[in-house]
This record gives sequence, C-alpha cells and structure tokens, in this order.
Amino acid sequence: MKTTKNNLKKEIKKFKEIVAMKCLVCTKYQIKEIILCEIKGCPLWEYRPRQARGLYTLIKRLKQKNLGLYEAKNN
Ligand code: SF4
Repeated sequence: MKTTKNNLKKEIKKFKEIVAMKCLVCTKYQIKEIILCEIKGCPLWEYRPRQARGLYTLIKRLKQKNLGLYEAKNN
C-alpha cells in the first residue's frame, strides 16, 4: 500500500483505537482508570487515551464482539 497522507491518518486512527481497546480490557472498562493510569512501565502508557471521548463507542463494540464469542462457545 502506497503511503499517502490519508493512509497514514487511517493507520494512526486504527492504532489509537487498538491501544484504547487494550486499555479498556486492562482496566475492565473503567475509563477513569485509563485516564489516571500511573503504570509508566507499560509500553502503551504514552499512547493511552487521555480523555473519555469515543471510548463509550469502543466499549459497545468490544462488548458486542465478546457477546458474539460467548454465544459461539455456548452453541
Ligand atoms: S497504559 Fe495503563 S491502562 Fe493502558 S494497558 Fe497500560 S497499564 Fe493498562
């Protein structure tokens, strides 16, 4: 894929989303804990979300994905 300004923006957005998802799982969906995280040894610390904006949507998506897995296991 050719590196263009738009592709780069998309990749950065995707990266931020992945980090936010990892942080949400790490804190068991406690947004305030992510913002206040003090574990500076974590490689994601520098890139973690600093505000709650957009995180509620991610929580919904994560829970939908987990629900799908849960249903698949029980069928
Ligand atoms: S930055 Fe903090 S909240 Fe995010 S994964 Fe690391 S330890 Fe967990």
